[in-house]
Amino acid sequence: MAELPKSIRDLVEAFERLPGIGPKSATRLVFYLLNTPVAYTKDLGQMVAEIKSKVKTCKVCYNMGEDDLCGVCKSDKRKKNMICVVERVVDLLAIENVGGFVGVYHVLGGSINPLDHVGPDDLKILELISRVKKLSETEDEIEVILASNPTMEGEATALYIKKKLEDLGIENLKLTRIGSGLPIGSDLEYADSATVARAMEGRREV
Ligand SMILES: [Zn+2]
Repeated sequence: MAELPKSIRDLVEAFERLPGIGPKSATRLVFYLLNTPVAYTKDLGQMVAEIKSKVKTCKVCYNMGEDDLCGVCKSDKRKKNMICVVERVVDLLAIENVGGFVGVYHVLGGSINPLDHVGPDDLKILELISRVKKLSETEDEIEVILASNPTMEGEATALYIKKKLEDLGIENLKLTRIGSGLPIGSDLEYADSATVARAMEGRREV
C-alpha cells in the first residue's frame, strides 16, 4: 500500500475498521468515492461528522431519535400502557418493520451476560421498573411484553425482569413473553418479518 498517497491509505484504514469490511473492500470503496461527484463525498462526510451529535437517546424508552423523545414515544397513536422490552434498537426496528404493533418499547441496551461482565445494572432494567411503577399510577391495565431474544442470555434477562416486576405487586400487570415462532438461539434482528410477526402474536402470559 506504500505506493498510494497517504490520504487514500488513511481512508482505507478507516473503512477497514467497519464491520464486514476487509482491506480489498475498503480500497474498492475509497476508489469508488474518488470517482463520484464531489457533492456526494462532501455530503457523506458531513453526515458522518454530524451523526453522533444529531442522534439522541429517547429519555423514555432509550430508542434512538433526534429529540428528547423518539418517534414512537411522541406518537399519540401508540398505546403507552403496552411496553415491548427489547435488547437493542435493531430488535425494535425488526418489530416496527413488520408493522401492526400498537404499543411502545423499552430498549435494554443488551442482555444479562456474566461471561461478558454484563449484569442487570448495566442495562436499563431499573429504568423499566420505575417506568412501569409510575405508569401503574395512571393506567388501569399494563402489559409488558418480554421480547428479549430467545438465547440463553435473553431468557435469563426475561426471567430477571419478570421477577423484578412481580416484586412490585402491581395489580392488572400482565407479563407476556414472545412466542416460540423464533428459532431457539436466534435474534429478532435476523428473523424474517413473518417469523417476527408470529413471535409477537404468539406471546403468552408468563
Ligand atoms: Zn422513546
